[in-house]
Amino acid sequence: MAAEIIDGKKVAADIKEKLKKEIEDLKSKGITPGLAVVLVGENPASKKYVANKEKTCESLGIKSLGHKLPESTTQEELLKLIDDLNADPSVHGILVQLPLPKHLNEKEVMHRIAPEKDVDGFGPDSLGRLVLDEPGFIPCTPHGAIKMLEAYGIDPKGKNAVVVGRSIIVGKPLALLLLRKHATVTICHSRTANLKEECLKADILCVAVGKAKMITGDMVKEGAAVIDIGINVTPEGKLVGDVDFEAAKERAGYITPVPGGAGPMTIAMLMYNTVLAAKMKAGMTLDF
Ligand code: NDP
Repeated sequence: MAAEIIDGKKVAADIKEKLKKEIEDLKSKGITPGLAVVLVGENPASKKYVANKEKTCESLGIKSLGHKLPESTTQEELLKLIDDLNADPSVHGILVQLPLPKHLNEKEVMHRIAPEKDVDGFGPDSLGRLVLDEPGFIPCTPHGAIKMLEAYGIDPKGKNAVVVGRSIIVGKPLALLLLRKHATVTICHSRTANLKEECLKADILCVAVGKAKMITGDMVKEGAAVIDIGINVTPEGKLVGDVDFEAAKERAGYITPVPGGAGPMTIAMLMYNTVLAAKMKAGMTLDF
């Protein structure tokens, strides 16, 4: 039987609807959540992502403060901007669109963002809290993956979860979140000896590599929930994930499409973190 398709667009829309109410409530208290979006250079994919994020902010009532800097921006200039945004009370969240141009030190920039404004969740404070199971900003893409599982009633507790990819942005935090939800977690990467064997053990298979169709149908366990985070463009210009969707959906129980799965969730969870930042500053919490 073919898998149930996990509709990331729909789950994202439901989350944004809830956030809208939270934002209205904040506004009634005189607080408008503000997100500073910093873009350096002319990377076309980055420009598109930033435009999407700004558009979503607008649609929800979050103030989006765009800072578009030229490719020639120096490390000192960028750090000065981060310092100014850290000090600006109308800015609740700071997002620096990655990747930065090669001459800039990405790590130093990410570490400079004030922990209470780190809505991407890539800073040491946020990641430390994730490891410690303390409340804080959760990186958006892995958080979105967990929310999709939740929305479809897939409880990781006691299940075998396999995460393919170990980046700080996706794989590692996702593995920690699945562990927090009591899954037995295996992390695979480029040196994993037998990827197929590992994947076939997965009741929940999450893939974040960046290689089209690297997960073939025969690597998916019957009935598994497959979360495909990869974004790849085929030579024909088609957007695809890391999983061979057509083959995998014949074996999986649930599967996310690309596009329409992890992508929309990532933006929704960025909005979530921005609202969380504004609420935390006002001494409140976000309860979903
Ligand atoms: P990275 O390049 O940082 O990490 C890729 C990971 O894949 C690494 O851990 C690497 O292992 C592993 N890997 C590479 N080749 C293999 C292989 N043959 N077998 C097993 N593992 C392998 O990528 P990101 O985590 O940043 O992104 C991954 C994908 O997710 C990309 O396609 C990206 O575009 C997409 N993405 C999508 C988002 C969304 O909103 N939907 C958001 C963020 C990312 P090793 O560590 O050993 O090198």
